[in-house]
Amino acid sequence: MVDFWWDRWLFDEPLAMYLGMEQLTHFLVAEFYEGDAWNEDKLLRWVPNHVVRAIEEVYFHSSVKDEFVWLSSNSGSFTITSIWECIRHRRNVSVVDSLLWSSTLPLKLSFLAWRAIRNYLLVDANLQRRGVCLPSKCYCCCNAEETVLHLFLSGPVIVEVWSHFANKFGVSMDGCGSLSSVFLTWLHSTPLASKNHIRVFFPIVICWCLWLERNDTQFRGVPCESGRVIRQVDQFMELLGTLRMLKAQHFKGDRDYVLFQFATMLAKKVQHVAIAWGKPPLGHVKLNSDASVCQERASGGSLERGVQPSQVEVDSRVLVSLLLSREVAKWPLCTVLKKIRRLLMYFSTSVVHIFREANSVADRLAVLYLRSDRIFETILDLPPAVTGAMVLDARSVPFVRTIVDNI
Ligand SMILES: [Zn+2]
Repeated sequence: MVDFWWDRWLFDEPLAMYLGMEQLTHFLVAEFYEGDAWNEDKLLRWVPNHVVRAIEEVYFHSSVKDEFVWLSSNSGSFTITSIWECIRHRRNVSVVDSLLWSSTLPLKLSFLAWRAIRNYLLVDANLQRRGVCLPSKCYCCCNAEETVLHLFLSGPVIVEVWSHFANKFGVSMDGCGSLSSVFLTWLHSTPLASKNHIRVFFPIVICWCLWLERNDTQFRGVPCESGRVIRQVDQFMELLGTLRMLKAQHFKGDRDYVLFQFATMLAKKVQHVAIAWGKPPLGHVKLNSDASVCQERASGGSLERGVQPSQVEVDSRVLVSLLLSREVAKWPLCTVLKKIRRLLMYFSTSVVHIFREANSVADRLAVLYLRSDRIFETILDLPPAVTGAMVLDARSVPFVRTIVDNI
């Protein structure tokens, strides 16, 4: 039931818009297909010759059901996620928020810092704002109303804690008027700091330990002391180190800090593997294919050793998984995939992934950027670079592939 003029079934836009036509007779696509072929005469009465050629390239069969292709998803299928991405309004990513969520720290610390920055914590001032009638007194200094800003930034206990750690790292916190500015000041205190840096972890851990101290004071009657908060921060960071959560890259520019002794180096395992193109079994034929994109030019190349391939090799893992999956795939890629799947089925051929090193002949053909209809009939016609690679393949000469794994 695909509308010939107004559905997008051939190009990126409907045919009526592509051809700039308005007064049109209504047709279904199926009305131009008779038996098992396109009715070329009928097509030519309505659309120009080059469009007919494009239509004839479309895989179409009356026994195959039409499928909708959802433009907004990579799989071509409708998903709630994709429609949500279409309608949502994305705001700019906050630098401060992006600092808070690190896989090195427990999530409860990130949540606390996130709530503190947004003034969502249930300190006395916020309870009062919600209508809870109570007198407010900072449990740490008994000398001010308990607000998030007082508790985490300007109270006498936290000032001592901040200045202790700021002195250790040489961070100047003059002019910090909000928790957000504290996080940014620590981040920008060295050009080498990034999201996963010790200078980002410390403010989050300090906020956490101070919150624990405040709760101990309020609910257990323990006197609030800056020294205990400092010890808790140090112990927490040492615990992270003992648990091997601290890595050397977290200490860029701060390797003289005492905690660096806990940092684990990211070791890399390097392997060199010999990779060679494999000959197909006797009597079987293999097709090697590759594509190249350079300076906005895309080109492909393939080498068929025989008449009808029983195996196809490509070095794109993504393409192989797309072909083997049942995904419709994104428009207009889905039409190309459908065509390749049809050819694979027609030849009863399997497609497998190989490493680029074993696909050197197809790779060298692809980078020649020849016309799509250029065919080399004999080996003698091939450029020397391609012939050379073929000779190496024929003798099963391996190429070396370097594999680097983080351990
Ligand atoms: Zn206080």
